[in-house]
Amino acid sequence: MGTHRYLSRSCRFETVSLWTASSPAAAEQLLAEWFQQPRGVARAYDFFRGARPHQAWVRTVWQSRIQPSHSFTLWLLARGRLPVRARQDYLPDRQCAFCGHAEETLEHLFFQCGTTSRLWGRIRAWLLMRPEMTTFRRMLRTFRQRYRRPSTVTSARHVAMAALVHHLWSARNALIHEGRQLDEERLYRRVQTHVYRTLGVYTDQELRRGAEMEIEP
Ligand SMILES: [Zn+2]
Repeated sequence: MGTHRYLSRSCRFETVSLWTASSPAAAEQLLAEWFQQPRGVARAYDFFRGARPHQAWVRTVWQSRIQPSHSFTLWLLARGRLPVRARQDYLPDRQCAFCGHAEETLEHLFFQCGTTSRLWGRIRAWLLMRPEMTTFRRMLRTFRQRYRRPSTVTSARHVAMAALVHHLWSARNALIHEGRQLDEERLYRRVQTHVYRTLGVYTDQELRRGAEMEIEP
């Protein structure tokens, strides 16, 4: 109890400073502290459920099969808290770093930009997901309502979704802060490799197990 209360209080403090400072280093440190503890995901779940009791997406974001750093990025996205350029009024250039053709909003960066919508298309084709992901709210609703039957393919979809969101955000930061260009193929392979390794499944046939039971409307 004592440890948990201390953890909650320090996490709450760190989280608030994260929202305002939005430092990836601070986020990494928070995660490291947190997940060194046994049952880190359960603690995260308790903490965030306590902080926002009525958020329907909490269970989608905080799952033990999702890597904690991926959950964390997804959580910031679900809360609309990732510091995209459209949210930073002081910036003279608020265009998307990937394409330069639209304002960098959450919806554009993660769903509507040419690169990201192509990546989503590939992930959806790979894991047999029919619904299009056009906004983060729609994506979270789809995963919560549609992809909940326990199966290998369900786990693969959740792990892939969180990994894609996390790696897109990392690629965006690497481009803006280090000038490193996004390598679409590499990012796609990275998500795939992560899914195979997390599930310990190495063929697509096995990975899609459970999809044949689904009745598409
Ligand atoms: Zn773009």
